[in-house]
Amino acid sequence: MNHKANAVLHSIVCLLLLTSVSVAQELDAQFKKIKDGIFTYVGTSGESNCTIILTQDGVVLIDSGNFPKDSRAVLDAVKKLTSQPVRLLINTEPHADHTTGHFVFSPPAVVVAAAGAGDSMRASNIVERVAKLIAEKPELRSQYEGYRMITPHVEYRDRTTMNVGERTFELYYLKNVHSEADTAMWLPKERVLFPAASVGVKRLNNLRANVSIPDTLSAIKMMKGLNLEVVIPGHGQPGTAQILDDNERYYNLLVDRVKQLVQQGKSLEQVKQELKMPEIEDWAGKDRFPNNVETAYRAATGN
Ligand SMILES: [Zn+2]
Repeated sequence: MNHKANAVLHSIVCLLLLTSVSVAQELDAQFKKIKDGIFTYVGTSGESNCTIILTQDGVVLIDSGNFPKDSRAVLDAVKKLTSQPVRLLINTEPHADHTTGHFVFSPPAVVVAAAGAGDSMRASNIVERVAKLIAEKPELRSQYEGYRMITPHVEYRDRTTMNVGERTFELYYLKNVHSEADTAMWLPKERVLFPAASVGVKRLNNLRANVSIPDTLSAIKMMKGLNLEVVIPGHGQPGTAQILDDNERYYNLLVDRVKQLVQQGKSLEQVKQELKMPEIEDWAGKDRFPNNVETAYRAATGN
């Protein structure tokens, strides 16, 4: 390459760098830049996270938010970052706090989720809850303008891979970790993992009747086997594999201690009263501890 071409190339590169810096600065403080072209809107006070992933061929979004005002903030950010549309909306779970905002992006976005996500949404009372909310608080009407429940267009079983532009998205169905249809998403080239709500960030999860701690531990083991660098959970601050380690340690300790008490002949009620977990003193969501103990009791007694 001659001198002049080099100089031209140099100025193009500088221009591109300047552009990307100014783009990142335009996003408000709630957006955290994870890697080039990957931005997470971190939910306030434990609300769900949304992540924007730019590709050469359009945008991929991970979850759409609980409140349309947040979904619109994400859409505004997308418009600042690129003129391309949101092509795919990958859904980590079907609960309302991750899916209410779908209508803000779809159409044109195609919604992808694990098998059972659509049934779970249809069986829920999401639509009624939104109608009730607007009836009680008319000031929210404009925020929910155009609301309708958008169920997934594509449901996969077990595992699937999607390629958009230069990026690869690997989706893994996680069994019995939180909802009826949880998806972990892995970006192998960028080494970014989205473990859905299978883990909390120094926070106890609400373990519903369908959740199994042994299944959660195998999901954590599978995810730890990926060569990961960044972990972006369904709720809470993005971090590292430490998030997975903390949850693994907690569940192992919890089941071990429950087992010990069961072996001493204690009933579930006695276990609930006697079990102490000083290791998670600084974790939030302690009101969920009783259902965590019940879930561990099922694991300890094989029920
Ligand atoms: Zn959920």
